[in-house]
Amino acid sequence: MQVVTLDFGNIIDGRERAARGGAWIDVTDSATGAVYGRCAASDASDAGDAVEAAALAFDAWSRTPAQERAALMDALASIVESRLDAFALAESVDTGKPLALAKSLDIPRAAANLRFFAALLRNERPERYALDGGAGGAPMSGAGGAPESGAAPGERGGRAEASNDGATAAARIVSAVERPAAGVAACISPWNLPLYLFTWKIAPALAAGCTVVGKPSEVTPATATMLARAALEAGFPPGVLNLLHGRGAEAGRALVEDPRVAVITFTGGTATGESIARAAAPRFARLSLELGGKNPAIVCADIGHGDAPSFDDCIAGITRSAFLNQGQICLCSSRILVERSILDRVREALVQRVRALRLGDPLVAATEQGALVSREHRAKVENAVTEAKALGGRVLCGGGRVPRDRLPARCAEGFFHEPTLLEGLSPSCATNQEEIFGPVATLIPFEGDDEAVAIANGVRYGLAASVWSGDRLRARRLAARLHAGTVWVNCWLVRDLRVPFGGWKASGVGREGGVEALHFFTESRTVCGAE
Ligand code: NAD
Repeated sequence: MQVVTLDFGNIIDGRERAARGGAWIDVTDSATGAVYGRCAASDASDAGDAVEAAALAFDAWSRTPAQERAALMDALASIVESRLDAFALAESVDTGKPLALAKSLDIPRAAANLRFFAALLRNERPERYALDGGAGGAPMSGAGGAPESGAAPGERGGRAEASNDGATAAARIVSAVERPAAGVAACISPWNLPLYLFTWKIAPALAAGCTVVGKPSEVTPATATMLARAALEAGFPPGVLNLLHGRGAEAGRALVEDPRVAVITFTGGTATGESIARAAAPRFARLSLELGGKNPAIVCADIGHGDAPSFDDCIAGITRSAFLNQGQICLCSSRILVERSILDRVREALVQRVRALRLGDPLVAATEQGALVSREHRAKVENAVTEAKALGGRVLCGGGRVPRDRLPARCAEGFFHEPTLLEGLSPSCATNQEEIFGPVATLIPFEGDDEAVAIANGVRYGLAASVWSGDRLRARRLAARLHAGTVWVNCWLVRDLRVPFGGWKASGVGREGGVEALHFFTESRTVCGAE
């Protein structure tokens, strides 16, 4: 039996400590199956302590000048960057993802999240709108506002729709929009991109002036703990960024039910999102939910034509979109819709590509497919494949857990599952309707755009989609009909942090990213009067 070596305690009011009840949760190396550490199994009393610390720190933090808050966030980003190797190794061990992926995607993006919101904070301009006594009002400045303009209503660059009811004809009435921080923010994140998604939440919260209780997944507690420790080193005052470990049904639930929590931002499963929404509703807490997906990749018969990427590059892109991070990204394509006239060619090319993916020890540089996050999650994926077969699905490649003799000795007990392609399933069956969140994708033929759109939109989710076509206009027409927060054309996972990110339907509520994320953590107060 391996000796427990690492403790991930709660970080509350600047001090790292065990849960009050003294209970711990084992933390496992996904690639070896060995327990390598433990995280605090917090209960409602720990959640209460963390919220209390955040509430006490709120007044001073929310009044800290924006430049100082931004400087601290940049300092934290610098620490993360300087410890890239250590953070990436911890992320790989916790999740089973290839170390190379953690190094090139997860950790750099975590630092970028902190830097992005620091920069946004520095560049915020006051929002002021003037009513000049005429019939209209002109925005003076601010995030979307044009400079004050003398143009008449209806003219290009002219005045916003506004009314100056009650103003004297000559007075110049100014509406100033203030955005004070909303209060204590609960930031709850999942295990698939642990630090990437944790920072995607805490960065705008801290930038906006909220104090935070972060609740990382109990399955992957390492990098959030490393980050919270680093925040203290960087100079964040105690209580500004608190960390609460523990099971969702205990620690997470107590956190979202605490009446002192003003804002809740959650990324995770749709069923969990529903229960959090119920907890938040009675007190009207601000809520943002980033939930599951069942994302379509629409492959048109004209892929590789014109100046679009070649057929082979499209196949490589589609494969990556289905299997990156072992398919455990909410944005992964799990339904590959292929125009029937090229189905045979696409099937053959995809199978070849997927079979060629290098699966193995995540710590080996060349590995492209690592382990799934946990034994339980692999069992869930295996069950989904068994169900798909029972529904008549044909396995084109993969189809089960990786035999031990195909794995390096170190990884024999790891949670590996073969990248799997299935075919022959109706678009309406469970396999094509419910999220599997693993290395499993289905091929679904379609004829013409109407059928592609009907199948793509015919699920309860609406997070992301991709369209692969050599005809840009056709791709844009298709994109315009898709019910999804993000549609990629001939690419995937390209993210500009300024744009809104989120899902339609059961994929979520609210949007993260850019100014919308910053404003989510604030209230607004418009102060209107003569100047
Ligand atoms: P999960 O819902 O089980 O857990 C997510 C987090 O919520 C964890 O920290 C967990 O401890 C906590 N939690 C669980 N129950 C809770 C409760 N009742 N109250 C408060 N907190 C609770 O999700 P997961 O298995 O960690 O992650 C996988 C899911 O996340 C997938 O469905 C995936 O699609 C989704 N996801 C969505 C996005 C997105 O941006 N839309 C991104 C990544 C992952």
